[in-house]
Amino acid sequence: MARITLDHIRHAYGANPVADSDYALREVHHEWNDGGAYALLGPSGCGKTTLLNIISGLLQPSHGRILFDGNDVTEVSTQGRNIAQVFQFPVIYDTMTVYDNLAFPLRNRKVPEAEVDKRVRDMLEIIDLADWADRKARGLTADQKQKISLGRGLVRNDVNAILFDEPLTVIDPHMKWVLRSQLKRIHKQFGFTMVYVTHDQTEALTFADKVVVMYEGEIVQIGTPAELFEKPSHTFVGYFIGSPGMNVLPAQLNERSVVVGSQRMDLNVPPKTKLGDRIELGIRPEFIHLGREGMPVKISRIEDIGRRRIVRAEFEGKPLAIVADENTEIPAEARVSFDPAGINIYANSWRVGGEA
Ligand code: ADP
Ligand code: MG
Repeated sequence: MARITLDHIRHAYGANPVADSDYALREVHHEWNDGGAYALLGPSGCGKTTLLNIISGLLQPSHGRILFDGNDVTEVSTQGRNIAQVFQFPVIYDTMTVYDNLAFPLRNRKVPEAEVDKRVRDMLEIIDLADWADRKARGLTADQKQKISLGRGLVRNDVNAILFDEPLTVIDPHMKWVLRSQLKRIHKQFGFTMVYVTHDQTEALTFADKVVVMYEGEIVQIGTPAELFEKPSHTFVGYFIGSPGMNVLPAQLNERSVVVGSQRMDLNVPPKTKLGDRIELGIRPEFIHLGREGMPVKISRIEDIGRRRIVRAEFEGKPLAIVADENTEIPAEARVSFDPAGINIYANSWRVGGEA
């Protein structure tokens, strides 16, 4: 197990990168603590796989260094880094049995056969393939094969870290849930440094102690699920975390208060923000009161989702999502007001303040 440092990593796939947009990773400077369970969350194409491949050594970064426990491993091979990596799609030996697939990484490292047997049998239980141990991998379904891949990643207990790259994509929803809780349990038991890539916020939030959010080749926020929800550092994070995501509305700074529509709020604005600055308010849909008081909105759609309702509306020409409980009466001439407790202020997409 190791503490992993990414020291000013940049990566471009093409030759002669010039603009920021030529880089798949722009400037990643981050430390993964020894034994931490991290989720790496972000939309497709933001650089998650690139980052994992740089940690494991499958890819050499264009700039920067990788350190394990303070030792520079940038030039060390994948083998030498001793990292287990589980990919989005199965990587297994088709002609081997399920058992031998799991035993392979252990035998490769000369683990005594009795120990191999014990660990493989335990892992077969965890991935729910005990009855399939002697079957050739070739004939299995995609999700069974992916479980083998997972098992192969988890069967060793001497790795510096385990990296998972959206490993449950091909697994059916129920089994997803089961495997996710198994992963969490295994993490607790062995204390691996784990980095779990996903574009699914539910998966990230249930699995990890710390969530690392990426956007366009950069890490934009690292925090607990609650921190990401309450204080998104960037409008993207607010939009991406939470369902529906945070509303982002243009606002004005007026003396020391903030004006959105006709509502004036005394919010905590940092001194550096200048009067007249174009700012945006991030307003969580859960912090909007819908009723007969406040500013007019035009309701376009109401979605009933169990005990909550999502109301889609238009406010001053901008889309606005509101979360109301099932008993909320929605008048024909609906009006809204914003609760300052659920508001953050953004300038150039980055959070600069908020709250009353
Ligand atoms: P993610 O895993 O978050 O979906 P990737 O790390 O796969 O993102 O990709 C980041 C960016 O790098 C994307 O713009 C993608 O098109 C580009 N990219 C990824 N792999 C390659 C490659 N082998 N060659 C060229 N560009 C690539
Ligand atoms: Mg990817």
